[in-house]
Amino acid sequence: MLRCPQCGSTLRFASSEQRVYCNHERGTCTIDRGFPLIAGRPALVVFERSVLEEASLVARVGNSPIARSKPGNWFRLAMRKLLAALTGSNPVAESNGRRLLEELQKLTPRPVVLNIGGATIGSIAVALRKNAENVCILCFDIYASPETDFIADAHDIPLPDASVEGVWIQAVLEHVIQPERVVAEIHRVLKPGGLVYAEIPFMQTVHEEAYDFTRFSDTGIRWLFRRFNRIESGVVLGPGRALLWSTCAALGGVLRSRKMGDLFGTLLFFWVRFLDAFIPTPYAVDAACGLYFFGRKADTIVSQKEVICSFQGVLTRPLAAPGGDHG
Ligand SMILES: [Zn+2]
Repeated sequence: MLRCPQCGSTLRFASSEQRVYCNHERGTCTIDRGFPLIAGRPALVVFERSVLEEASLVARVGNSPIARSKPGNWFRLAMRKLLAALTGSNPVAESNGRRLLEELQKLTPRPVVLNIGGATIGSIAVALRKNAENVCILCFDIYASPETDFIADAHDIPLPDASVEGVWIQAVLEHVIQPERVVAEIHRVLKPGGLVYAEIPFMQTVHEEAYDFTRFSDTGIRWLFRRFNRIESGVVLGPGRALLWSTCAALGGVLRSRKMGDLFGTLLFFWVRFLDAFIPTPYAVDAACGLYFFGRKADTIVSQKEVICSFQGVLTRPLAAPGGDHG
């Protein structure tokens, strides 16, 4: 099923060299030196037009969850568990995962779901693993882990057109330099009527250091996914959670240590996240920590005016409707 990320040709594996080569016609593709294997997985990246470096991919194997899953210091482990419990989980992703699976099962008995950026076990695993016999999860990320099938850059997904029923992309679009192009790739690899579930931060501080490029509001996400019919979109984590995140970052700045900021910020102010229970949806949308979009591949494009009318935040005056949102 894998294809060359530059020209879309089929691939062949040269076992003697431990590299993967593109089967392109001479002159139609510039990747003559092939693609490396990282921890046994093909790294199908057009390095010339990616922020990723082949050399650093090799180095990152040591920093992957494979290495991190070794038993560590029990105190550090206990603290991490305590902080995770105080910070709270993401129940929205879990329920949306179940919903995605239900909708996919209407398309075909055993749908293929592409998990973009799923090297660490996320909510998709929780929701879909329980139904492993009913779904085939294909996973890629920018580093190797037990969860990943191949390594790729989401700007050039190495899959054929219309090849998967579903795409799950959770907390990835802020880390890609051109989210519009990644969403165009998602649209390309989805079969007609295929489904996408995306989560993207709104009010969050920088994470993953230099590899954090953008944030999206409610209408920003609707425009980003304008070639999809909206099934539902909304809040993943509310303003209270965003406030806790910012408080930790501010304390981290005062203490000159993000780890200390996370520790003391969470221990002292974990309760602010419970404010979310008292915030109505439109107010939550306007100040959410993260938002989600659940949609279906469409042939039509939502117009700019329709995007304005799709707004779910607080309105102080009614909007003139030009025909409403698709879906
Ligand atoms: Zn090629």
